[in-house]
Formats: sequence, structure tokens, C-alpha cells
Amino acid sequence: MLAAGFTCAMCGKTEADTSKLVADHKIPHRNNPALFFDRKNLQALCATCHSSDKQKLERDQYSEIE
Ligand SMILES: [Zn+2]
Repeated sequence: MLAAGFTCAMCGKTEADTSKLVADHKIPHRNNPALFFDRKNLQALCATCHSSDKQKLERDQYSEIE
């Protein structure tokens, strides 16, 4: 999935089950394709972190990724 591997960027947990990792945009891409497709703007989050703070802030991004 991501070159960074399978470690959550927020809590540092290593997740062996990649189905529990979520691709997250560090900078909200909104409607900016350059940000959306920029792999440097992606990080991996575990399901726990993804479903907490990030989801509240950026809820409408994930339907495009998952
Ligand atoms: Zn995490």
C-alpha cells in the first residue's frame, strides 16, 4: 500500500493486518488533485486512530479511498 510500511503514523503501532490500516492525507486534499495523488502527502493510520480524531476532521475524504 504505502512505501512507509505498516506502522501507524499517529500512534506508532505496527499493524500486521493491512486491512486495518487506512491511507490518510496529511494535508486535507479537499478538491485539489495534486494533493490527492501526491504519495508524499499520504500516511498510514491504524483503524483506531483513523476512527478517532482524523475521521472527525476529514470525514468526507475516506469514501474516495476505501
Ligand atoms: Zn494508530
